[in-house]
Amino acid sequence: MTSVTDADNPPTRMIDYLKTLKPNFSPSRYLTKFGSLKTNQDRVNFIYRDMKKLNFYPKYFKDSKDDGAAIASQKQGDVFFGKGYYHEAIIEYTRSIATAKSRGVLSRSYANRSACLFKINMFKECLVDIDRALANNYPDHLKRQLHERQSQATRLMRPSERFHEDTPCIPEPQRNPLIESASDAVRIEMNEKWGRHVIATREIKIGEVLSVERPFACTLLMERLIHCHHCLEFCYNPVPCEFCTLIVFCSEQCKAKAVISYHKYECAIYFSLIACGMHPVQMLALKVTLLAKEDFGLLSTLTVDLEEVYRSDRYREIHKLMAATNKQSVKSLYDKAEFAAWVFHFLDSCTMFFKRPNTRNKKDIFKEVLLLQLQICELNGLGILEVHYDFTKNVLQTFGVGLYSFSSLFNHACCPNVEGFQYGSTMVMKAMKTIKEGEQCCISYGMSYGNCPKELRQEVLRTKFFFKCECEACKFNWREWNATSQFRSPLFMDLKMNPMEIMFMETELARGNMVSVHQFLARLLPQLKRCENFEPWGNALKIKRLVELCYRLLANRRRV
Ligand SMILES: [Zn+2]
Ligand SMILES: [Zn+2]
Ligand SMILES: [Zn+2]
Repeated sequence: MTSVTDADNPPTRMIDYLKTLKPNFSPSRYLTKFGSLKTNQDRVNFIYRDMKKLNFYPKYFKDSKDDGAAIASQKQGDVFFGKGYYHEAIIEYTRSIATAKSRGVLSRSYANRSACLFKINMFKECLVDIDRALANNYPDHLKRQLHERQSQATRLMRPSERFHEDTPCIPEPQRNPLIESASDAVRIEMNEKWGRHVIATREIKIGEVLSVERPFACTLLMERLIHCHHCLEFCYNPVPCEFCTLIVFCSEQCKAKAVISYHKYECAIYFSLIACGMHPVQMLALKVTLLAKEDFGLLSTLTVDLEEVYRSDRYREIHKLMAATNKQSVKSLYDKAEFAAWVFHFLDSCTMFFKRPNTRNKKDIFKEVLLLQLQICELNGLGILEVHYDFTKNVLQTFGVGLYSFSSLFNHACCPNVEGFQYGSTMVMKAMKTIKEGEQCCISYGMSYGNCPKELRQEVLRTKFFFKCECEACKFNWREWNATSQFRSPLFMDLKMNPMEIMFMETELARGNMVSVHQFLARLLPQLKRCENFEPWGNALKIKRLVELCYRLLANRRRV
């Protein structure tokens, strides 16, 4: 197996190659010509034609299973296991499982992983791995130990300890008749200034769930061996793709769904695209485009009518999300078009994608959709967060990115009244302030007055999201607060809470004490209600942060 780092990383770019070919080549003239193009397919073809003419393609790497590499990972796993580093050992055994070619190597790695899972009391997962080891011809002379572990795990297994709550669902009477994933507390409105945006139809209370939405597609940013490639669920005993070595799934069901809908095509080219330097948002755009394949023939007829039900599970809504093509710089559009040309080349030359009945004559449409989605995903992709315990404290990390047709319609405010919480990859929007009827519901696109000065916020929002923020915090120059700053005691008197109690909660939550979260919330929510109108007051922000953390921990699929 060629390792990804051996590859030209990233491959030489067309513009650099042309410079070496023609001494009088002018990059700025070349980009001006590119900038005058009107459609996405023309932009991709502009580069693809040169690639073809000059026979200048990115290098293809065949990804194949390799017992040698699998045994090396297995040995590394054994070293970690010997030292009692079970989490690290699990990752190495999973790497081995993803790479193994023969059933002998595979069964040993499953068996070894089951030993780790046993050690960390994940008996259900342990038993599943034992079954997998046995189903893959685990050597007879080693079976006795495995059977012993099996009977012990069966004896010790109890209804699995779960800390996270179930994904909320919107009760039938409150479902929004026009928005599949939302409650009737909101509606979509459209105007010149805000584009499509979300408005409260009545007063909304703090903590109320506004929408529960599965992503149209999502992808991992990190830790691909302990999360499912398809649903992003945290998983310590995933199964591998049968063909490629980089991808694992939480279950056979997820694997089957992914293979049939997109991974069949992605599989053969994934390794080469990683070698090209593909980043997660590009990965997401590719997934979305492959998922959209049955709609390729219908693009011109895809419309979104706000009088009809707005859905989360079909491509039409995704196709109509904002792309802001005319606001992108020529260079940024060119980079995306070049990536699209690489993907097209790999897909055309290494897979059966363009030989399917519904995509046979749709090469230009593919280029159109992929370049559009590269823009849409960059602008609309929402981070998927998770809390994990890092030896001494909880760390909040963005481990995935998803494309959601409804959640993407929330505009930004630096003092947001709504926050997205992720139950796995399901996005749940909750009100973090009392929202009045007719008021716009806004989330933060990563920056708020609590973590970022106004100049920087405005700069990022202008260059990355192409708008000038006019939220209350920006308009009235709210003082920037650092949520970790100390409570200031004179002001603190307004809260009916003892600073020591707040500190206790902070410490317990940072330690991952899940048992008390509901109790903390019961204390915090009335305080948040009391002080919500005192923003920009640091203490109000601090209470809000604690409530947010409680909600996040309740949603968290990963054991903290
Ligand atoms: Zn899954
Ligand atoms: Zn694969
Ligand atoms: Zn703002």
